[in-house]
Amino acid sequence: MQKNGTVIVLLGPPGAGKGTQADRLSSALGIPTISTGEMLRQECRSGSPLGAQVEKLLNSGQLVKDELIQEVVAQRLAQPDCSEGCILDGFPRTAVQARFLDQLLNSLNFDGPAVIDLTIAPEELIARLSSRRQCPVCSRTFHCVEGMSTFCPHDGSDLIIRADDQPATIRRRLQIYSENTSEIVRFYQHRRYHRVNATHSVEDITQKVLRVLGTNLDRTKDSKPPVPASQRLWAQIS
Ligand code: AMP
Repeated sequence: MQKNGTVIVLLGPPGAGKGTQADRLSSALGIPTISTGEMLRQECRSGSPLGAQVEKLLNSGQLVKDELIQEVVAQRLAQPDCSEGCILDGFPRTAVQARFLDQLLNSLNFDGPAVIDLTIAPEELIARLSSRRQCPVCSRTFHCVEGMSTFCPHDGSDLIIRADDQPATIRRRLQIYSENTSEIVRFYQHRRYHRVNATHSVEDITQKVLRVLGTNLDRTKDSKPPVPASQRLWAQIS
């Protein structure tokens, strides 16, 4: 039987630009992005009991339980719009999740993932995360410098600081990332694993990623419209 499309895993610490690159790759390749962080934030905003539990973990920079996030990803990846491939932004985040993903892809008739590891120095990350603002309506993120408007250029909403972008939480998130990352990299490094320097311009990084994936932006000519960064699934699992 013919295999489904390629699943692209974006690795990298918070602030490396995974969300930005996921959106650009989604537009260029015409495949959806599954952003686990964004799905969790949407659940928090919904005010559900599950959202209230998850919110405490998010605000303190801790990870949610593997089983919970694995269930979310399994349901999302089984949707028909993922059959031509998808981009995973924020998953896997632990070695347990990486092993789970292999089994899941196998059961859904996908090859193992192509892994892009966005690398960046810690000082640069802290600077980026401290200036990051998010639109509460469209979820796009922006880097705000002094004097810049604090309104979303797309829908005019007031931009907000994500609760988990407070300095103490940033430090905790980076610490958790570095605790888990070496095991995940060991798991993937002898497979389709590519390191990409995330300090270049957004456009250069996208081009580099497309090059290492063996494709190029010419596909934008006949690609489908961008797919929303995430889609709610919680009603089905909670
Ligand atoms: P992100 O937007 O990817 O930085 O994720 C924001 C927060 O969502 C993280 O700090 C975690 O609390 C939670 N989260 C996102 N993805 C995962 C995952 N794969 N496993 C556990 N927690 C996650």
